[in-house]
Amino acid sequence: AQVFPKPAKTRIIAVANQKGGVGKTTTTVNLAAAMALSGAQVLVIDMDPQGNASTALGIEHGSGCDSVYDVLEGRLGIDDAKQVCPDFSNLDVVPASIDLSGAELEVADAPNRNNLLRDALAMFLSNSDRHYDYVFIDCPPSLGLLVINAMCAANEMLIPIQAEYYALEGLGQLIHTIGLVQEHFNAALLVSTMLVTMYDKRTLLSREVFEEVKKHYPSIVLETTIPRTVKISEAPSFGQSVIAYDPKGMGATSYREAALEIAKRSAQVLEAIAIKRGEH
Ligand code: ADP
Ligand code: MG
Repeated sequence: AQVFPKPAKTRIIAVANQKGGVGKTTTTVNLAAAMALSGAQVLVIDMDPQGNASTALGIEHGSGCDSVYDVLEGRLGIDDAKQVCPDFSNLDVVPASIDLSGAELEVADAPNRNNLLRDALAMFLSNSDRHYDYVFIDCPPSLGLLVINAMCAANEMLIPIQAEYYALEGLGQLIHTIGLVQEHFNAALLVSTMLVTMYDKRTLLSREVFEEVKKHYPSIVLETTIPRTVKISEAPSFGQSVIAYDPKGMGATSYREAALEIAKRSAQVLEAIAIKRGEH
């Protein structure tokens, strides 16, 4: 496998879009696997009570198992809750179980409720024997407390955009919310990346969506688009990323190219291109 440039310090990337079904989980899982394949040390944190990222990486996550729910509520550290992805020994996963759906209410009155993930992650990264190059956080389709926790813990936001009619609808709201987080909680957060998913090069609509995203966010959208493929959609049912399930196919190739583009964006490049605090 191709070796990618490694970041000097851990890049913590939250994958978010309040719309469901746009490819957040697929993108999280496959970028993480592509980075792991390139030799990077990777951690995935599943912040969606549905636990789809856990499933897709072959991680057990039934109700009651050690998960990010216990981490957010302070019962476990990330070190205790994480499991190793069966396909990549350098890819760790903190699973989510359905229990996480109660967390937003249970921690609603905690004074540090926005920073539960940030604090647990900081503790873990500073005490871990291993240096992590990338942490990917898979967000649920909302703008609730779980997503705010992801935004507070991250230093970058990656927004998948489905090449569909209404693709950009809701994007303004998302960018606005990220702006509030930058303003009040996490001034260092960068909106660093957009990725067009489920792209069909035969349709005018797909090309129009890509052009539209490029027009509005020229510096951050990746040149690589992710095609709609059957292998990408069936890989999760085998508990595998498409990187492991169909390594030579179009889906895996595209996600590896997208990961390489991300890896090539050094800290200086990110500073120059990303949407920062006060720039909305
Ligand atoms: P989200 O996490 O934003 O809700 P998912 O990543 O779960 O979205 O994707 C929604 C559905 O679309 C899933 O069934 C997934 O397998 C499928 N899907 C995502 N990306 C692709 C793709 N590039 N090609 C085919 N199916 C895809
Ligand atoms: Mg999802």
